[in-house]
Amino acid sequence: MSAVEPGNVPTSGSTATGGVLELQDVHKLFGDNHVLKGIDLRIAKHEVVVVIGASGSGKSTLMRTINLIERVDDGRILLSGDDITEPRINVDRVRSRIGVVFQHFNLFPHMKVIDNVTLAARKVHKMPAAEARAKGVDLLTRFGLGDKVDEYPDRLSGGQQQRVAIVRAILTDPELLLLDEITSALDPMLVGEVLDLVRSLKEQGSTILMATHEMSFARSVADRVVFMHQGRILEQGSPEQLFGAPREDATKEFLARVT
Ligand code: ADP
Ligand code: MG
Repeated sequence: MSAVEPGNVPTSGSTATGGVLELQDVHKLFGDNHVLKGIDLRIAKHEVVVVIGASGSGKSTLMRTINLIERVDDGRILLSGDDITEPRINVDRVRSRIGVVFQHFNLFPHMKVIDNVTLAARKVHKMPAAEARAKGVDLLTRFGLGDKVDEYPDRLSGGQQQRVAIVRAILTDPELLLLDEITSALDPMLVGEVLDLVRSLKEQGSTILMATHEMSFARSVADRVVFMHQGRILEQGSPEQLFGAPREDATKEFLARVT
């Protein structure tokens, strides 16, 4: 019998389907409000999938079911082949495999940038403090924040804070990055620096599911664009297909409004 340390259980790589993420007929209801109506979605390793759709179409709920903030009412979600909707799943362990950034930077105001960035790595992943710090400094430097390592978040611009939040999310090399409207709360002047960071994550091979209203970004960076409409994936395809030749009327109407 081989002794496998809990932290060393292989969690990524080869799976039955080869996907990092697979949603199978996922349903979510809030009371009578049927918010996700049978979502099927598969994301391959290194793929960048951008979700677009009107406010209220279910984009955030989709993200939150994957991160187990919301439990699905029906269907399954597989993360690198593991069924994370299984009732006895270890929620914290699943979350430690996914990097998440939301619209509102939720950095701890009383902690320096470097401590914000390394907290989960040290506490959840038990990464030695010196290693976490070295990795944090390296990533912050790479993304233009080398002089902010020992600053407090309120000394940073919104764009800098959001870049710190992204560094925090990627410090432990998560299998999947969930980015939900990460530029929506930013001054338009600061959107570009955050999107540039996401672009470089793609170049480094990250697997990303991102909801955004930045259509030109979706067009230039997404491998695949998914259009959500009233709790369903109405259509999806390459940016060229979806933006250039949408098939569904609702997609055409949405694109006419936002582009
Ligand atoms: P989007 O991110 O596309 O704007 P959301 O996923 O936030 O859409 O919302 C989809 C629907 O789910 C909306 O009708 C919203 O009111 C509802 N909803 C989202 N979160 C909750 C919640 N925690 N409780 C009740 N209803 C919710
Ligand atoms: Mg949302």
